Amino acid sequence: PVRVRFAPSPTGMLHLGGLRTALFNYLLARRYGGEFILRIEDTDRARLVPGAADNIARTLDWAGLRYDEGPDRPGAAGPYVQSQRADIYRAHAHELLERGAAYRCFCDTHRLAALRAEAEAQGRPPMYDRRCMQLSQGQIDEQLRAGAPHTIRLIAPEPGDAGRFRDLVYGHMHFRGPAGFDDAVLLKSDGLATYHLASVVDDHLMGITHVLRGEEWLVSTPKHRALFDAFGWRAPEYAHLPLLMNPDGSKLSKRNRDGPVQAYVDAGYLPQALVNYAALLGWHPGGEDEVHTLRDLERSFSLERLSRAKSAVSRDRLDWLNRQHLRRALADPDAARALSAQAAREVGAHVPGSVDPDAVRDALRMCAGRLTFTHELFDAAPFLFARPDLSSADAVGTLAKIPSELRLPLLQAADAALVDAKPAPAEAWTAFAKQVASAASAQPKHAMMALRFALTGQASGPKIPELLAFFPPAESRQRLARAVE
Ligand code: GLU
Repeated sequence: PVRVRFAPSPTGMLHLGGLRTALFNYLLARRYGGEFILRIEDTDRARLVPGAADNIARTLDWAGLRYDEGPDRPGAAGPYVQSQRADIYRAHAHELLERGAAYRCFCDTHRLAALRAEAEAQGRPPMYDRRCMQLSQGQIDEQLRAGAPHTIRLIAPEPGDAGRFRDLVYGHMHFRGPAGFDDAVLLKSDGLATYHLASVVDDHLMGITHVLRGEEWLVSTPKHRALFDAFGWRAPEYAHLPLLMNPDGSKLSKRNRDGPVQAYVDAGYLPQALVNYAALLGWHPGGEDEVHTLRDLERSFSLERLSRAKSAVSRDRLDWLNRQHLRRALADPDAARALSAQAAREVGAHVPGSVDPDAVRDALRMCAGRLTFTHELFDAAPFLFARPDLSSADAVGTLAKIPSELRLPLLQAADAALVDAKPAPAEAWTAFAKQVASAASAQPKHAMMALRFALTGQASGPKIPELLAFFPPAESRQRLARAVE
């Protein structure tokens, strides 16, 4: 059974790249009926940002990426926060000492810095020189009795099998030493695990079958595989995801506006749209269709369709997807209700009095093709919520296109035709302009202009039958009366 994890470090809010990693893990689990775990990797205490772990969990919920096990969802492999697993890592580091696969290193920071400087000066990758590997048991015991601070290091194997593996995205990898084969510190002098040890121990104990993570971890994979070997465990499959980049090909920086997912939430993007967008960053569904719901993706996701090409973010594409998902959501009664309630609050900021959510829903549906966000509704069609200013340039221009001797007769004919009218859907209003035109001996296009002028004060907008369906006939008559004055 597939078991995957999203393992963010809570060093900041969840970013777009993190959301994509979480999404692909989630999709792999759903696709194969497996489990998706959220694990918080907070071993690097100095870089913790308060609230970050919460933001990550909340944002995953917002996106609909429900994890099966995590800090707040207990499971057999918990706890799921690494700072609560310190004893487990310590025991495992000691197990490696006993197996002769690791050693204690008493070198202090000065010596290590000097080694690094020396390597740098010679243009070599910095590597620990294994001085402490030569210590006798007596020397080690003496240091321990004196309480000397020390780390535990892995005895890095000669680059062999660990450096050779097939990445599910990048294909065959062959890392030749020595880079990446330094004797990695597993346990720091404060007794806490490093990322490498914690990650491998957890991936094993949590039964992880596939590791899907950012490309920046590809170089650490030989080290991780060496650790699996040292424990005598079987390593999971690895799939590394290419970095995201800006449209100009530069690296997506953390300061970039395409960074924190929270910024997209605040801007008003729908979770469905952002998830759809993230899915297409490095994965392609095969067909032509670009609009996918999370449910679609759960059925169609496959590792084979992950791409090793770096993907560029594109606001235009995201905006387009948001419009598509907005339109779909408005067609669904429950989703439409939630969106209308929200849009009613947004419209309420522009108009006095209370705003009817049902009217807002109809307005949203009427304008859907032109809206990227619900909060654009009022500016896109203010006349739906307030009577139009008939002396605006747009209004005057629309009126000017109607021959002057026809204006009054058209407005009066429209009013007369509405006297006995009952509220009705748009289909019932398709012949209305034609009737008004013939009653006033005018052309239908002029009847439509007169109606548009009176009802909206604008040159273009929703179709006339839709407007007549939207306004109660009494409101349409009020607007016609204003236009006659
Ligand atoms: N904690 C690492 C990160 O924040 C996770 C790397 C991994 O998935 O192994 O990127």
